[in-house]
Amino acid sequence: MTRRATLRGAERTSLDGETADVIICGASFAGLAVARELSGRGHDVLIVDRYEVGERATSACAAPTPWLHAMGVEGAIRQELPYMRFTTPHGSARYRLPWSWSSFDYRELCRLLDDQNDARFETAKVERRTADGVLTDRGELHAPLVVDALGWKRVLADPHYQPPEAPLSRGLEVHPPHDASGDELHCWIERDLVRAGYGWHVPAGSEVRIGVGSYDPHDHVKEPTVALAERTAGEAVRYQGNWFPHRLRSGADGRTFFVGDAAGHCFPLSGEGIRTAFYFGIACGRELREVVEGRKTVGEGMESYSRFSSSHRHAYGWALFLQGLLPKIPPRALTLVLKAFHPLTDRSFSWYLRQADPSFAAGDRDFSVEEPLQPV
Ligand SMILES: Cc1cc2nc3c(=O)[nH]c(=O)nc-3n(C[C@H](O)[C@H](O)[C@H](O)COP(=O)(O)OP(=O)(O)OC[C@H]3O[C@@H](n4cnc5c(N)ncnc54)[C@H](O)[C@@H]3O)c2cc1C
Repeated sequence: MTRRATLRGAERTSLDGETADVIICGASFAGLAVARELSGRGHDVLIVDRYEVGERATSACAAPTPWLHAMGVEGAIRQELPYMRFTTPHGSARYRLPWSWSSFDYRELCRLLDDQNDARFETAKVERRTADGVLTDRGELHAPLVVDALGWKRVLADPHYQPPEAPLSRGLEVHPPHDASGDELHCWIERDLVRAGYGWHVPAGSEVRIGVGSYDPHDHVKEPTVALAERTAGEAVRYQGNWFPHRLRSGADGRTFFVGDAAGHCFPLSGEGIRTAFYFGIACGRELREVVEGRKTVGEGMESYSRFSSSHRHAYGWALFLQGLLPKIPPRALTLVLKAFHPLTDRSFSWYLRQADPSFAAGDRDFSVEEPLQPV
């Protein structure tokens, strides 16, 4: 793929009338996972994003390490975190995880993922769906198959999402410099910090990512993010924030495939959306392959991808229920559960990872996790 900085001014030549077999809108976790599945089979795939690949991160960029290996992007890892700590106003519980988290460099991960496809790439802002393609700020593009991997806004749906009414959470983080110490992903559940949500501290090599997420999009997160940075001796510098969905949406609407945050694939409760963007991106890419190679019609491909996506609704519904419950649990009871009910937390963690199992990406390589969670 040819690479250049995002085109500006007179360099933004018209793309009007360009055609492809598949147009993938969005070149982040979901869009690049779709493109990876379509690679090496002679299909004409066009990816469009308003920015150059990897130019703007909107995430703390921590994912389960087995997923990063399964996607072949482990070279982007900045720090592996085998432990996780939960802090409430009444205490702290630390666990050795059956699988570790790894924080990674967004630009590097996107580059490694992008190297695994043979699609064309153009920088363009996608404005809306048309009868046979999409309208962008560089003209109209045409394809029989269109994927919306544009994130929470669900741009190609009609109407698309607008906060604060839409089922979205919001997150903000700062990235102060760091000395690469620490071995844990630390999570705070404290109502004085954020009424309904949580805070995080993720070491990532030379920086640390400190942030706060609120399940209620009406609640502001800047003040708590600054407070958490001060508490953890970090500086509130290099801000980054975004909305993220917490309700599963349809995977296709008869015209467009939706994947990643555009389909509400970010997991409620944890707000973890990277591995699910990979997981559903792979599923979507496999379905598109069936269609482009003539084994299914467009309608059949949409139908079976949609069915696959909605077959996860029980897990998403359960996580959404817990997301609603968490702010209502008395803090002392929550602390007790975290510290003393080990079989429950162990079962919860292994259930959680199984929801988008890394083996899905890895063909014959086995990434199943058998180890128990260890309180330490
Ligand atoms: C502060 C914060 C921290 C988070 N931390 C984590 C974390 O540590 N781990 C985790 O798993 N999840 C995390 N998440 C959630 C995670 O970031 C998302 O679920 C994930 O990014 C979804 O991936 P995606 O590819 O669907 O969408 P995105 O990553 O949002 O990518 C959308 C792409 O579409 C492009 N785009 C958008 N609109 C247009 C347009 N109109 N035209 C052209 N291009 C467009 C964007 O440039 C972008 O490249 C976090 C979210 C926030 C807000």
